[in-house]
Amino acid sequence: MALIVKKFGGSSVANAQRVFNVARIITEDYRAGNEVIVVVSAQGDTTDDLIEKAREINPDGPSKREMDMLLSAGEQISISLLAMAIEKLGFPVVSLLGWQAGFQTDSNYSAARIKRLQTDRLTSELAKKNIIIVAGFQGLNKYDDITTLGRGGSDTSAVAIAAAVKADLCQIYTDVDGVYTADPRKVKTAHKMDEITYDEMLELATLGAQVLNNRSVEMAKKYNVELEVLSSLERKPGTIVKEVVKMEKMLIRGVAKDANVARISIVGLPDSPGIAFKVFSKLGQKKINVDIILQSVGRDGTKDITFTVPEDQAKDAMEVMEEVKALYNCEKVVCDEDVAKVSIVGTGMETHPGVAATMFEALYNAGVNIEMISTSEIKISVLIDKDKADKAVEAVHNAFIQ
Ligand code: ADP
Ligand code: ASP
Ligand code: MG
Repeated sequence: MALIVKKFGGSSVANAQRVFNVARIITEDYRAGNEVIVVVSAQGDTTDDLIEKAREINPDGPSKREMDMLLSAGEQISISLLAMAIEKLGFPVVSLLGWQAGFQTDSNYSAARIKRLQTDRLTSELAKKNIIIVAGFQGLNKYDDITTLGRGGSDTSAVAIAAAVKADLCQIYTDVDGVYTADPRKVKTAHKMDEITYDEMLELATLGAQVLNNRSVEMAKKYNVELEVLSSLERKPGTIVKEVVKMEKMLIRGVAKDANVARISIVGLPDSPGIAFKVFSKLGQKKINVDIILQSVGRDGTKDITFTVPEDQAKDAMEVMEEVKALYNCEKVVCDEDVAKVSIVGTGMETHPGVAATMFEALYNAGVNIEMISTSEIKISVLIDKDKADKAVEAVHNAFIQ
């Protein structure tokens, strides 16, 4: 007997037929004598549709508290429908919202972090031999308000449960059959990996490979929860994410694209000590995530700074930069949202010179101009024109991975 946590993404439960498909996967494991806790996302495009409904009411963006109240409803629908399907198949089941399952979070609405998972209810439902269906992506803060964990947050809910109940297995079911060397829907030559390390998966997820949410990988690494990413539509082994993999060390493990990027430039800042500190601490106070930063060489006592932020934080970042512009009497601030970040990831590149050159050559051959570059030990990212991002991913992928 094993204790298994399974997570099903939105497309896996998109309609009644898929809900029954998932119910069968779950009940097979239960019938074999296992304890099963399931985390589900909202059905299909429900979360996007709810966001659209909120925009119809307030195009400027409603308060984050009310957004969380709204978005958490998507998962309430899917857990109850899945529980009904399992009931119909004749198995004991209970559905639980995030707070009922014991998820306590901080109060950072729309991007809350799990502070604690109180497992009493989960344990008592398991003792009653129930299959448990938990709403992903949500919790409760200290004011007893509903919070959500940010887009793709159900993966994190699943890993948190697996860590808290010390599950034997944590399976993340989705609409592809594993983690690929690039998005398999965009790059036909991408291939599936049998295994990948937490560190490489964390980089890929952070750099835009949406197959796993990056916080879920971070948490899996911290609590040593081995993950399997697999398809809910085909019965075959997926990709294992763990600390050490047996696979031969590849130079590049994968290529990722992040289109949720905006580039902001401020022209004519004073070229004096402490300016960068002041600008970026103002952005930090507003919890804006600055990524790639470029500073020009000073001339005539002024300098320019260009940096990237997530596109959905660009509006907030521009408000801060308008203040900075007024404060220092700068020439202008501009924001460009037509950019994307393309990155290669692999622990193998640490010891191999020439990786950057190969990447840049592939981009050059594909006619893609590089606007900004950033590197770390195990990744190289470039900022390019958004329209050319898919072409760039393919070109870079094929330069490294045959
Ligand atoms: P779910 O709703 O199950 O959480 P997501 O849409 O969040 O599913 O993630 C699955 C999608 O991630 C796939 O359909 C695929 O297009 C995309 N994807 C991006 N990069 C990769 C990759 N490297 N490997 C596999 N899938 C990827
Ligand atoms: N339903 C949420 C979203 O679409 C959470 C998730 O799917 O993980 O982002
Ligand atoms: Mg997802």
